Amino acid sequence: MSRPRFWDPHGERFGLPTYPWRMAPDGLLTRRQLRKRGLRPGGQPVAAQILWRSRRTNGVRAAHLYRACLAKPVRPMTPGRTAALAAANRARRTCPVCRRDAGYVLPTHLGTCLPCADGLTAAA
Ligand SMILES: [Zn+2]
Repeated sequence: MSRPRFWDPHGERFGLPTYPWRMAPDGLLTRRQLRKRGLRPGGQPVAAQILWRSRRTNGVRAAHLYRACLAKPVRPMTPGRTAALAAANRARRTCPVCRRDAGYVLPTHLGTCLPCADGLTAAA
């Protein structure tokens, strides 16, 4: 007879279309569910919510839902991004004193490769 407590598909009671746990229609997914499919909300507004009682927090918990049809793919690694990352890593390995690729990320407290750091210490 009575609808589940959190059944409000038109948002009349909760201000947002609201469904009980596991009763959201297909096509509305949580951020985590989108992520599993390689998607992200992509700036779309929250479309609906799931509400459920949590015994653990002794209250009502909410999860926002997004429309799968408006979701965007998680940014893929493109050749451009790969190159940019490689350049950034190279910069972090390149010693500003001897200009060589040290082969490791320079320790930030030294700011140079180890031989240069030794040399600077010896010279000081
Ligand atoms: Zn060096």
